[in-house]
Amino acid sequence: MRLLVLFIISAVFSYGQQSQIVDFKELKADLSIFPKEKKVSGTLHYTFQILKKTDSVYLDAKQMSFSLDNSSKTKANLSANEDKIWIKYPFEEAKEYSIAFNYEAFPKQTMYFFEDQTWTQGQRKYTSHWLPSIDDVNDKIIFNLSITAPAEFEVIANGSLEKESPVFNDQKQWQYTMKSPMSSYLVAIAMGNFKKQTETSSSGIPLVYYYTQNNESKVEPTYRYTKELFDFLEEVIGVDYPWENYKQVPVRDFLYAGMENTTLTIFSETFVVDSIGFVDRNYVNVNAHELAHQWFGNLVTSESSEHHWLQEGFATYFALLAEREIFGDDYYYWKLYQSAEQLTELSEQGKGEPIVKAGASSLTYYQKGAWALHILNERVGNLAFKQAVQNFLNKYKFKSATTDDFLEEITLLNGDDLQLSINWLMCLLAKANPYTIKRLIVVISL
Ligand SMILES: [Zn+2]
Repeated sequence: MRLLVLFIISAVFSYGQQSQIVDFKELKADLSIFPKEKKVSGTLHYTFQILKKTDSVYLDAKQMSFSLDNSSKTKANLSANEDKIWIKYPFEEAKEYSIAFNYEAFPKQTMYFFEDQTWTQGQRKYTSHWLPSIDDVNDKIIFNLSITAPAEFEVIANGSLEKESPVFNDQKQWQYTMKSPMSSYLVAIAMGNFKKQTETSSSGIPLVYYYTQNNESKVEPTYRYTKELFDFLEEVIGVDYPWENYKQVPVRDFLYAGMENTTLTIFSETFVVDSIGFVDRNYVNVNAHELAHQWFGNLVTSESSEHHWLQEGFATYFALLAEREIFGDDYYYWKLYQSAEQLTELSEQGKGEPIVKAGASSLTYYQKGAWALHILNERVGNLAFKQAVQNFLNKYKFKSATTDDFLEEITLLNGDDLQLSINWLMCLLAKANPYTIKRLIVVISL
């Protein structure tokens, strides 16, 4: 996610222990959205593997009503409290189960209804306000959403659109499917009077640019350089884009700059500009940042908030590398200098903090994280850095990882300078900031 305004992430994200007992594998959801009633309902078919014998498992679900569907293979007992639905059954170890149930929700947050648009915002564990799912980022699920909604709208969700079909009462159904699993906070729906234009990346991935009616002339300036950013990131990261397609949708009153839902970035319509507006304010940085998250965050997710920089530091750094491709070296170093100034100020106020920390400030996760990667890349060289990043992504793909997991990939590579680099990186990561970024710049340039 890229914030419009820097703020302190104060929440300490906890993560549940249920992942030791059950592994939710796949969801087939038949949803209906009622924008006027501000309601979502549906039938969910969940498949899961029991890892340890138990008499109950749960899904996170905030203030919803439920009933078992007749088609359910597992005839479990369902009960709900404020924030969970409990599935009770004598589950046996190493067996796979599937359950089908109906639900209805009137989301108070996370799914937002406007007269002409409905959209969701799931980070970091808010999807359970509109879709029974798993708040713990470590249980990754293949999400297949079919959505029925008023036919006048376009409905966009994660993955590939397999089918669009009319149903009764001026309604239409959109069927989306995914091939690979992801954390629940990355599930998204955007619905509205959208039109689209499509381009294809050099590797053949469809890049879909949505826009609202009357904004056709702003498509090019708004999405300018998207293909370049995409092609560059695939090349510099060295791992193929891991998903079916990449769609971007601007929505009204969005709370952030952008959110990297898998295959479906939702961003603030304040970034929709014409060629003149582009000069003052454009989407390029947010565009690159959310795209980088498709690898750093979506493919490999940080195991807990302590390691959040693995998502935000990486997305910030790789966005900066992509922008360097377009705007040049001066831009790159100017941006680094600016964030060094901000970090120094934080440090001088006595608020400097290590990168690996639960509840650190976004300046720490984003900018200091990016600085750590810049330093590491300078020290080990582009080739070794790229190799380590590639190994890290391949080893933990569709899973979650910690800072140690990343550092291990760096350590596994040979290089004379390497131990020194790791020492410097560890200073940034582990200690409570005895070195300001400015001192580090001096040291690096020596
Ligand atoms: Zn981000």
